[in-house]
Amino acid sequence: ASETVNMEENMRMTLPDSIQQWLQAVGEEGARQHLRTYLIGGVVRDIILQKGNEDIDIAVEGDGIAFASDIASKWNGELHKHEAFGTATIIWPDGLKMDIASSRTEFYEKPGSLPDVESSTLKEDLFRRDFTINAMALALHPEEFGDLIDHFSGLDDLKRGAIRVLHNLSFVEDPTRILRAVRFEHRFGFAMDHETEAFIAQAVNAIHALSTDRILAEFQRLTAEMPPGQLFYRLQKLDVLSAFLPGAVWDDSAERMLPYITSLQSSLFMTLLPLFLQESGRVLSAERVAVRKQDKQLVRHVHHLLDESWDASIEKPGDFHHTAARVSPLSIEIAAYCLEYSAGQPEKAALLRQYQDKWQDLPPWVSGAELQRLGLRPGPLYKFIISETEKGIINEEITSSREALDYAESLIHSYQS
Ligand code: ATP
Repeated sequence: ASETVNMEENMRMTLPDSIQQWLQAVGEEGARQHLRTYLIGGVVRDIILQKGNEDIDIAVEGDGIAFASDIASKWNGELHKHEAFGTATIIWPDGLKMDIASSRTEFYEKPGSLPDVESSTLKEDLFRRDFTINAMALALHPEEFGDLIDHFSGLDDLKRGAIRVLHNLSFVEDPTRILRAVRFEHRFGFAMDHETEAFIAQAVNAIHALSTDRILAEFQRLTAEMPPGQLFYRLQKLDVLSAFLPGAVWDDSAERMLPYITSLQSSLFMTLLPLFLQESGRVLSAERVAVRKQDKQLVRHVHHLLDESWDASIEKPGDFHHTAARVSPLSIEIAAYCLEYSAGQPEKAALLRQYQDKWQDLPPWVSGAELQRLGLRPGPLYKFIISETEKGIINEEITSSREALDYAESLIHSYQS
């Protein structure tokens, strides 16, 4: 066995005094109860890297909830138990939040476990984690405070900048780890080692089984941390972009569209949308990432408008009227952009933009009241006549309210007779 590495000095350098003191107190109370306690997870990685992180996760080799209840009542902490997970959160009077878990697992629940089985429970806890760099622990027991527990060579991987899974089925077990790996690569300037990268190919079926919610939650964290273009590029390179987001393609056209579309409105949906807009046939696949109602609607509108434009009969801006009138200006802008830059139909794009300008400033020359005055009986014709007249105005075939009324009247006569 290699020499024990002690990180107490790093802890002092990176953790605020108050956290340091809480950790010591936890270690001492654990010792009093003959329980080993550990600091685990991302904060250990960050202590070694000398980076700040105040996500304090503690593992207790024993009943974590009981231990948390003890110390919370002893030192006036606010206790929140999560029985189903065997964990508890304590908020200390100074505001520090601490998560406490039992590292005791189902493996441990056999009668008459020996003391050395206890130390293997921590190992099993760490083995269930994502990457070696996140699978280290620091002992809090006063006799070993700050000792690094590193069963899987996480320290070496941290030093060489490697993201490495703990076993070959890790990504199959939880494919969101692929997204986490990409996030850590970017955050620390690390890279997955070759073997880890190769395991990804085996996880494609497992990716398909993920729920959209989980995928989107992970993309939310990713796009908050790294430029989306880099993210999409990396995922495409790993050959999993379209596994996570069916129908998504990252190419020149999507790359050109990304800054444009995110400038219109920034949300996860708008960040992902360019991946689906290269050709009209694929637009509908974006519905899967459109969680909000207005996002779903936007996808359908853009799809409609792009479909419409293939129609050779579109020659004037008003020809878009029956499709576009009920569509948001945002969808119109996006569809026009797609027509111009990915569909290679700049003339249609120009017509659609003209349509929008005209529609925004449409003069109110015909109304229902006017049609009633002209003798039209209430019914479905109202809508049709108003719409046809509007189309004429948009196409500049009708240029005054007088002409508008004359035109409406002629329509009334031809349809009512
Ligand atoms: P961050 O700085 O983004 O919070 P973190 O490493 O602290 O990074 P968390 O998501 O807070 O990440 O998770 C805390 C710890 O839980 C991780 O360090 C890792 O050990 C473990 N973990 C989180 N997600 C997974 C997962 N999908 N599979 C396995 N272990 C995970």
